[in-house]
Amino acid sequence: MSTQNPIFIPGPTNIPEVLRKAVDMPTIDHRSPLFGKILHPALDGVKKVLKTREAQIFVFPSTGTGGWETAITNVLSPNDKVLACRNGMFSHRWIDMCKRHGLDVQVVMQEWGEGVPAERFEEILTADKSHEIKVVLATHNETATGVRSDIAAVRRALDNAKHPALLFVDGVSSIGCYDFRMDEWGVDVAVTGSQKGFMLPPGLAIVGFSPKALAAVEGAKLPRTFFDIRDMAKGYAANGYPFTPPVALLNGLKTATAMLLEEGLDNVFARHNRIAEGVRRAVSAWGLKLCAARPELYSDTVSAILMPQGFDANKIVAHALDAYGVAFGTGLGDVAGKVFRIGHLGSLTDVMALSGIATAEMVMVDLGLPVTLGSGVAAAQEHYRQKASSTQKNAA
Ligand SMILES: *Cc1c(COP(=O)(O)O)cnc(C)c1O
Repeated sequence: MSTQNPIFIPGPTNIPEVLRKAVDMPTIDHRSPLFGKILHPALDGVKKVLKTREAQIFVFPSTGTGGWETAITNVLSPNDKVLACRNGMFSHRWIDMCKRHGLDVQVVMQEWGEGVPAERFEEILTADKSHEIKVVLATHNETATGVRSDIAAVRRALDNAKHPALLFVDGVSSIGCYDFRMDEWGVDVAVTGSQKGFMLPPGLAIVGFSPKALAAVEGAKLPRTFFDIRDMAKGYAANGYPFTPPVALLNGLKTATAMLLEEGLDNVFARHNRIAEGVRRAVSAWGLKLCAARPELYSDTVSAILMPQGFDANKIVAHALDAYGVAFGTGLGDVAGKVFRIGHLGSLTDVMALSGIATAEMVMVDLGLPVTLGSGVAAAQEHYRQKASSTQKNAA
């Protein structure tokens, strides 16, 4: 595989040169004031990306999965009831983690390709008169199926039911790519990692806790040690960590948040939408369909593309790697072998996206699928060209 080619897996993403340099640094004394100059701007930057004034941010050496564990173990007690929907591999795994921690999970089963069913949640929450449900879990962007769910609608479901449950959101493949409004949506715990919207190598779990979530921490009885945010909060107050901090990755996070804010969050979201729409036009020009059931569910960070029945979608991923040195994402869980995924998040330009679309086209033609070379590329080019000229017109 050529390391010159961009990758099109839905995380880890391509790493911009600036961030590769930011994570390549000499050792500093992490107990010196120098460390605070990395830590605090990184935490402040995350707050801005999450659009929160109220939340407290914690960053652990871990991954998004560790962020899930931080969320549940700091707030919940054994046998606590949790409401969740299973609509893809990532929601499935978070539910599985809750069960393994002895939580009582009420699972709403959704077709893979559907989003979080806010209306069904509202019915369940309204019926829960004694408020046994302590937490509602929602996966903002289901990376396995390329489905984006409406978190504001989940908040409305809680509010309409006048239910006090906390709202935990997995934003691992959405935060830093499309709009996330922690305070406005009343998100109590937001979870992400370093290797998706923040464009860094993997290695950080990034979580935000609302004041309401923080208030639940003392009463929570699930065992926690490494992920205890109380220890982390004490560390932060003294410019440090309760253990050795991942200094270089935190320096990367400081730089990544500054990059996103300098581009402007609205511009970052518009770029993801434009690139994603080009990919979607290509998919449609190929005569193929997305796994996501309806346009309002289409993800701007990953497209899961359904292959014709009887065709093993894994062959696309294997052949792309063998023949062209390009990585696409395989199908996971219930859609393994049925979809392949084009990741289009993080550090990506229209021009890079065109190379991925062109590669997917060559691969499909090589494998005998009825796709015309150039068809998807042309559809995406037309979209990118129009968007580019309208940007320039606006500037003029
Ligand atoms: C990638 C991802 C995760 C898991 O994160 P890891 O960093 O691999 O632990 C969780 N949720 C979603 C939606 C993801 O895309």
